[in-house]
Parts: sequence; C-alpha cells; structure tokens
Amino acid sequence: MPGTLSFDDLKSRVTDGSIDTVLACFPDMQGRLMGKRFHAVNFVETSFKETHCCNYLLATDLEMATPEGYAASSWQGGYGDYVMQPDLDTIRPVPWLEGTAMVLCDILDHHTHAEVPHSPRAMLKKQIARLKALGFDAMMATELEFFLFEKSFDDIRKSGFRDMAPISGYNEDYHIFQTTKEEGVMRPIRNHLYAAGLPIENSKGEAEAGQEELNIRYSEALLCADHHTIAKNAIKEIAWAQGHAATFLPKWHHDRVGSSSHVHQSLWQDDTPVFVDDADPLGMSGLMKNYMAGLIAYAPDYTFFLAPYINSYKRFAKGTFAPTKTVWSVDNRTAGFRLCGEGTKGVRVECRIGGSDLNPYLAQAAMLAAGIKGIEDRMPLPAPTTGDVYEDAKAADIPQTLRAATQTLRDSAMLRAAMGDDVVDHYTRCAAWEQEEFDRIVTDWEVARGFERA
Ligand code: ADP
Repeated sequence: MPGTLSFDDLKSRVTDGSIDTVLACFPDMQGRLMGKRFHAVNFVETSFKETHCCNYLLATDLEMATPEGYAASSWQGGYGDYVMQPDLDTIRPVPWLEGTAMVLCDILDHHTHAEVPHSPRAMLKKQIARLKALGFDAMMATELEFFLFEKSFDDIRKSGFRDMAPISGYNEDYHIFQTTKEEGVMRPIRNHLYAAGLPIENSKGEAEAGQEELNIRYSEALLCADHHTIAKNAIKEIAWAQGHAATFLPKWHHDRVGSSSHVHQSLWQDDTPVFVDDADPLGMSGLMKNYMAGLIAYAPDYTFFLAPYINSYKRFAKGTFAPTKTVWSVDNRTAGFRLCGEGTKGVRVECRIGGSDLNPYLAQAAMLAAGIKGIEDRMPLPAPTTGDVYEDAKAADIPQTLRAATQTLRDSAMLRAAMGDDVVDHYTRCAAWEQEEFDRIVTDWEVARGFERA
C-alpha cells in the first residue's frame, strides 16, 4: 500500500515538478481542515518550519463568526496569530488534486511555542500521553456515514436547500446494484484515499436512499483522527468535482435516517491487545470492563463532543439504530455501546452515540479521558442489556438536547481534571454560542405552524 511521503520524497517530487502545491492545514474545532495552499518550492525551502494563522480559527463557528466569551481569542486580545507547525510525519500526496501534497500542522502559541491546549490535535495527544503513562496505546476506528445528492452544493444552496434529491431512489443498505450506480463517486474516493496512505477497508450502501459508509482500518488514535479528517474533506472534494454534494449533517430530513460516526476502541500494550481474556465468557479482560464502565458512566459528560450541533440531537430517535441510552449490549445495535468481536483477538467496544458531524480528535480525546477514569477508579461494568433498549425505562438517557449536553459538559469534574478548566470552558462557550445562535433564529417550521393558526 502506498504510504505517506518523507520530507525528502516531497523535495524530490518538487524538484521533478510532479508536486507544485502543498496544503498546510489543521483541524479546527468543527473538525474542518483549515490552512493555506503553498507554492511547493516555498514550502520545502522555508515554510516547512512554520507558518501562521489568525487565532480566531480556534474560536469561531461554521459561519466564521467572532463570538464574545472566549478567554483565548477576542477583539480585546486583538485576535493575534498562532504558529502552524507542520508535522512532517504527516506529509502525503493528494491524488484527487493535480500536483498537490498535504501536511497536517500542530497549533502553537505565537510567543511561547507551547501547543495551544484547546486545539483538537493537542487535546487528543494529551489523552494519548495519559494513557501511555498507564502503559497502554489506543487503537481506534471511526466509521464515516454520509449522504450523496444528485445535485451540487451550489445548486442545492441556491435552491434554499429545497431541491435535495439523494443520489439513489431507495434504501441501499448493502446493495451491490445501487452502489454500482454510485461508483463514479465512490471508487475514486476509495482509490484516491488509499493512494494517499489511508488504509481503506471498504465502502457500502447504508440504510437510506443516497446514504453511504466508508470504513478505514483501525489505527493508533491520532492517526485514526487524521485519517477521518482527511477522508471527510476528500469525500466532499471528490463529490464536488463531479457535480454532486456530500453531506455529513447527521439528520438532513426528519423523515430520513440519520448519519453516524461509530467509534471502535481497543487498548494495546506492545502490539498485544489487552482487552482480550480467553477465560472470560465474552473474552473481555478486567481492563476492558473498567474502560467500558468509564465510557458508559461519563457518556453524558462528553455527549457534546459526539453531538456538537442543534441538528445532532435530531438523530437520537427511537427505532432508527441511533441510540438514546448509556448502556451496553452484546452485538445489539439499539444500545449506546456495543461489544464487537467477542471471544476473538479483535474484541472491542463500539460507541454508537456519535453523529457524522463529530470532530474525531475531540470525540476520541473525551472518550479516552472517560476510559482512563474507569481504569484508574477500577469502575465495575454493569450487566449488559438485552432486547429493544429504546423500551428499557431503567436505562439512563444521554442528554437529549444541545442545551442539556452543554450543562453536563460544564459540570463535568472528570473532563475538567482530564483536559483542564481552560479547555472545558472554551468548548462550553462553543456549545453555548451554537445554542444562542439557534435560539435567536425564527425557523420555517414555527412560521408554517403558527402564521395563520396561532
Ligand atoms: P462491522 O460489522 O461493524 O462493519 P467491521 O469488522 O467492519 O465491523 O469493523 C468495524 C471497524 O472496526 C473497522 O474499521 C475495523 O478496522 C475496526 N476494528 C477491527 N478490529 C479493531 C480493534 N481491535 N480495535 C479497534 N477497531 C477495530
């Protein structure tokens, strides 16, 4: 499988003229790639050391607004610069764009050159280091679900988001014929990403018209988040280049199934999976049980990191495979957590709460923090649930709204201890701002409902 490029490989490709552009980018709070397009000669001669960006990029929303209330970035603080420091281990070709390579950057304080604590890559690295101090590495896989549409982003936007026909006319879950019709988009997604060094496993049709899933082989947590972010960007770019839109909005229509990003997790020690215990009836080690107990107990604390927008909460509906309860079960898709690969070396926990709009760095950082707490406190794992978990009145609910998840994030002593007060306060502000923006907007629904009849 073609891998990433070394800095020397990049220099040779710039010299032979096959690469003329280098994208230097980093994931923002929303998990988008932000950054600059360098002339490749400039990048390999000077900018590979560092470049700069405005610090509002880690204190803005999807609209690039400049909300008040962030301690780290503000008009009062003058919106200064951050250093973007290319991580030269992440250089890779971008085969779907002509003559282009990409590098991911870490975000550093302009003066101290310390990593900015609320930058998503730094937040995940911190939890990985805490886990490493206990002697373990995390292996993760994040599934990417999304919808493809017949028309382009521009056409759909110009229609006021009214003219939205999915690329297929019917539920295409596991369909080979329908997904054959979509190979014009999906085959280049698989092949270009593979050529960019991502270990693509497969794509498949999902349980709704136009819904797709892309699976990438599990890897060390930071790499998994990098893969997810690059793949999400590539899916949009490849679909766009062919005149189609691809959306990761978790619930694009109330009558349609939502899109998730399930996160598979296992811990390892020196290349040995340590969630495995052959003597246990389900093959789960004591360590795995403690980790899962932490994940389950603290799910309300970190729900915001799995569901960061108003729309995210529209996905949590009964009978749609999107979970509403913080319980676990053995291979049962109605629970928030599912045991997968029981009795095998691949035994792992799948968190099914996250939507397709999650930021994988933040989601993994928060779940690692919860799992670490479970290990440290040797938390006991409750018994698994069975049957239709939606109807289990005793099972605890995950927060049902962004407002509720903002409160549980704000109040989380676990996340404050694991991530730092400044980081939790930063993301609490992010969550509260999203709610404030929604609260001030008059929606189509309320106008249609009340205009004549209220
Ligand atoms: P499903 O039937 O849910 O699609 P798969 O076998 O395709 O299950 O696996 C789903 C994801 O789990 C894949 O991306 C795979 O790489 C990942 N995975 C497999 N083993 C592990 C593991 N030990 N730790 C973490 N993720 C894993």
